[in-house]
Amino acid sequence: MKEFYSQMNKKIYYKVVSIIIVLIMIGLLVDNPRFYELGVGYILHSILSIILIACLLLYPKYENLTFRIIIMAVTTAFLYAIFFLYQGTVSNFIFLCFIPAISILFFDSKLFYFSLMLNTLSISFTFSYILLFDKENLYFYFKQDLIGNLINFIGSQAIIYLIYHLSYVRIKKQHLYYEQLQHSERLKTTGQLAAAVAHEIRNPLTVVTGFLQLYNEKDTPFNNEIKGHFDLMIAELNNAEQVIAQFLAIAKPDKNKKMELVNVKVVLQSITELLKSYGLLHDNTIDLNVDEDCFISINHIEFKQLMINIIKNAMEASKLGDSVIIKTVRKNHFVEIKVIDYGYGMSEEELKSLGTPFYSLKSNGTGLGLMICYHIVEKYNGTINFQSSKDTGTTVTIKFPSKNNVVAGLLL
Ligand code: ADP
Ligand code: MG
Repeated sequence: MKEFYSQMNKKIYYKVVSIIIVLIMIGLLVDNPRFYELGVGYILHSILSIILIACLLLYPKYENLTFRIIIMAVTTAFLYAIFFLYQGTVSNFIFLCFIPAISILFFDSKLFYFSLMLNTLSISFTFSYILLFDKENLYFYFKQDLIGNLINFIGSQAIIYLIYHLSYVRIKKQHLYYEQLQHSERLKTTGQLAAAVAHEIRNPLTVVTGFLQLYNEKDTPFNNEIKGHFDLMIAELNNAEQVIAQFLAIAKPDKNKKMELVNVKVVLQSITELLKSYGLLHDNTIDLNVDEDCFISINHIEFKQLMINIIKNAMEASKLGDSVIIKTVRKNHFVEIKVIDYGYGMSEEELKSLGTPFYSLKSNGTGLGLMICYHIVEKYNGTINFQSSKDTGTTVTIKFPSKNNVVAGLLL
């Protein structure tokens, strides 16, 4: 599908580029006042035309930022050269105003700002040149209303910026929506897979664990060394059992897990107490900063499960002695919980893999924690978002629709 689209895009690209090349060639060869002179100006026009055509044809092969910057620089040079070479063609000024709009087609914010800056610098130079050196009055139409022309130029750049900004925000939103869609699709498949696999594995595991426990009892003919091995085997089987239990939690929505009004502060305090022993082990502390009236509608066991997974990850990522900060605020219609750590963080690639079953960079990790978190958040109409950079730390932002504190106050 992706290839199909990129193939389509290429076809359209080459069609548009062919039209541009034809226009450039017409501009160069048909009724050109400098054609018969063959002076420096015409040679410059020809060279820039050839470079621009080459860049446009080569672009699909080198689709990177450097090449895009080269294309925009050459386009700018070409359009300004035309402006200075053919003073009679007043409409050339329109092209100068439009230069940053061309960069929008590449959907690259760095390129857009580069082009906007370059154009502003070039136009400042152009206006100064006309004002100071145009003794022959070649640009009389400019000078007649210099301020008006300048205002029009600034206005055109502002409009182009607005168009860029609005389309960029829209595309970002669509991209986010697409990623969310992919995520829920992944969760659905995992759920179905989990149900099938977990049932098949759980039964034999229970049988084996049962027999091992039986052989491990006092009056069996096995010596202590073998019994030690039995202990190990039972512990490992229990680990496997836990993984399966976590999987099943996703596959089978438990009817008993009813929604209730949860006071976020109370739950977070109890989790902090619970994790304190864990935190002391790593010499880390939890810094709680929670607003009073944060109430959400959720099953409190699942909420605990969610928060424990996130806080545990933050503590595991932190350096010895660092604290994990938990901030909770009530905003207009939702409660926002932030879990901040200053640990080893994640790269962009790692961020993209979050929530994938069994994705774990820890030697003893299951890679199921975040998958469960995504599932719980989605179930209660919340959102979860990770901001992270390598060696700086991670901020996890969780949002849930908030419940009215008056109702909450009455109920609790
Ligand atoms: P596990 O904790 O068992 O590895 P999780 O699903 O909880 O599985 O997390 C998956 C992976 O995401 C982790 O192995 C870790 O690499 C990364 N991760 C999650 N939270 C953080 C964090 N706060 N800082 C850095 N990496 C994190
Ligand atoms: Mg984890």
